[in-house]
Amino acid sequence: MTRNLPLHKKAKALKPGSRRPAKELCSECGLCDTYFIHYVKEACAFINQQIDKLEAQTHTRCRNLDNPDELYFGVYQEMMAARKTEPIPGAQWTGIVSTIAMEMLNKGMVEGVVCVQNSKEDRFQPVPVIARHPEEVLAARVNKPTLSPNLSVLEQVEKSEIKNLLVIGVGCQIQALRAVEKRLGLEKLYVLGTPCVDNVTRSGLQKFLETTSKSPDTVVHYEFMQDFRIHFRHEDGSVETVPFFGLKTNQLKDVFAPSCMSCFDYVNSLADLVVGYMGAPFGWQWILVRNERGKQMLELVKNQLQTQPVTSKGDRKTAVQQSIPAYDRGVTLPMWAAKLMGAVIEKIGPKGLEYARFSIDSHFTRNYLYLKRNYPQKLQTHVPEFAKRIVEQYKLPES
Ligand code: FAD
Ligand code: SF4
Repeated sequence: MTRNLPLHKKAKALKPGSRRPAKELCSECGLCDTYFIHYVKEACAFINQQIDKLEAQTHTRCRNLDNPDELYFGVYQEMMAARKTEPIPGAQWTGIVSTIAMEMLNKGMVEGVVCVQNSKEDRFQPVPVIARHPEEVLAARVNKPTLSPNLSVLEQVEKSEIKNLLVIGVGCQIQALRAVEKRLGLEKLYVLGTPCVDNVTRSGLQKFLETTSKSPDTVVHYEFMQDFRIHFRHEDGSVETVPFFGLKTNQLKDVFAPSCMSCFDYVNSLADLVVGYMGAPFGWQWILVRNERGKQMLELVKNQLQTQPVTSKGDRKTAVQQSIPAYDRGVTLPMWAAKLMGAVIEKIGPKGLEYARFSIDSHFTRNYLYLKRNYPQKLQTHVPEFAKRIVEQYKLPES
């Protein structure tokens, strides 16, 4: 009976908690929880970095490294700042992601949406689902700021009658998804991505909240905002802000997952449409339409959005260069100095796209150093060419 099955269907998914092929670099994307583990050596973002090949497959071309915006943000047709005229209560920002996904189901463009709800006991414990109804998408709104095995539902997709699917996910999940896309038996796959950085395991998240917030158990939502502060929203609706420069870097150095310390796909290069915030003014979301499929998805909700062109102000380079040794030495400022520094940087610091470049530069230089020190044998193949060019702009410590 099993003789004519595609090879992957004979493969065995790994049991929860067992060591993954990418070992400590595994981001728990979920692929290895399915029989698609058969393709892991080729598909895993941490075993086989192949962003340029997959860009060509997805967008019909790779990013143009000589175009300064594509070097940073990847292949795109259009970029804008947007917000919902009527924001969705409880969404991470204004709920553009959930709205697009719900409209795609309502209009019959897709029969299912891969998204992440949370467990009953824990608002931050991710539970990936295939949503068939808009209410199930709505129940998945807001970030679960932890590694999430989104691709663990792929086996169910292939076994279902779904032919048109939307997947919502972060860069490492989408890299693996693109690598197995043709094996899923779909007619159309739509991908709605978010940028992603500094993700953590569930226990790492607890440590981060306990080290940084005054009331870790009541946090319902948090974000590293463009005003150089982390905004924690609590159950009672109050907002607590902590300046980036006041983070207890010395205690938090090992809190981020090794996968995220070695990731260079901050802007989700392989999604059709990306919805984040970091290239937009404070309070607005940032949208990158990468290809025609992404354009169709955005068109569905344009009448529910206010939009404005993206802008760019300031010069990030000095701030990035200064932050490299400070982070490396785990410097933590006293809170009064951190607040003062935050206020000054907010006034004169990078804004709009320049803020996005600031964040990309800071993370790529940090991650390049991490890889060089911990996985020197991976440095050449794991760092994409665009990231090497970005990192080359800065002077890094010798060792
Ligand atoms: P909502 O309508 O609230 O929908 C959120 C969607 O995210 C849901 O559909 C859910 O399925 C999905 N989701 C939730 N948690 C996860 C997860 N762990 N993995 C995969 N999918 C998930 N944007 C930036 O511009 N810069 C950043 O540095 C940045 N870091 C991020 C880090 C993480 C871990 C995540 C998940 C997102 C990050 N984003 C970042 C994206 C940003 O925070 C918002 O998610 C995005 O702008 C969409 O907001 P929204 O209100 O439209 O989303
Ligand atoms: Fe498997 Fe995904 Fe982990 Fe890679 S990151 S080892 S594909 S679960």
